[in-house]
Amino acid sequence: MRDKIVAGNWKMNNDLAQTEDLLSNIKKLYKEKEGVRVIVAPSFTNLHHAFESLRELPVDVAAQNMNENSDGAYTGEVSGQMLTSIGIKTVILGHSERRAIYKETDELLAKKVNAALENDMEVIFCCGEELGERKTEKHFEVVKRQLEKGLFHVPEANWNKVVIAYEPVWAIGTGETASPEQAQEMHAFIRKTVAEKYGNEVANDVAILYGGSVKPGNAQEIFAKEDVDGGLIGGASLKAEDFMAIVEAF
Ligand code: PEP
Repeated sequence: MRDKIVAGNWKMNNDLAQTEDLLSNIKKLYKEKEGVRVIVAPSFTNLHHAFESLRELPVDVAAQNMNENSDGAYTGEVSGQMLTSIGIKTVILGHSERRAIYKETDELLAKKVNAALENDMEVIFCCGEELGERKTEKHFEVVKRQLEKGLFHVPEANWNKVVIAYEPVWAIGTGETASPEQAQEMHAFIRKTVAEKYGNEVANDVAILYGGSVKPGNAQEIFAKEDVDGGLIGGASLKAEDFMAIVEAF
């Protein structure tokens, strides 16, 4: 039985005081929802604080990125070991903003995935096509390539540490959401692609999250789709009421 997950990606938002505020509102509003895992991903500077603050709740804290190397002369970077040493066991990799703005390639992401797994971390691996790729009907091809090059070198035994997030780039932060049917179609395709490589057991067990302008008002119909196992939430995760309403939507 695969996990149901609602994960909030706070991106480069919230200084310490704002983080404290958001955490305290989450703590006030949090209600355990059977079978639903909740994760929040603050920026690096607030990870330790968030981890300590959320200890009392079954809410996991994830990093938004990490370096592919274990240590050394990589100014400004953060390693998996640094993250696990403060209790962080999950990392988002391959977000479209990292791919587009910081030019993270499939090859680099494959190395980051390895580094995370070597540190026994869970990976939320993002994939998704740009608008032009959907318009020219290349979306399946693009997502398949991202999975094959970034993730399909992972040995079967490590797939219990993998979560996939399908995030069509044209729906991120734009207010435009993939329809529940479009989401289901791609999620089913991703599951089939995983099954072709690893078999049905791995494919049925991997959680596939949808991301792209999920809000309290549209979460329920998206999450109701058979192959949608939850959401990776950007903008709406910055307001505790909206984020917890999305959790409730399951
Ligand atoms: C995201 O950046 O992962 C995301 C899904 O953002 P938003 O919900 O704001 O579209």
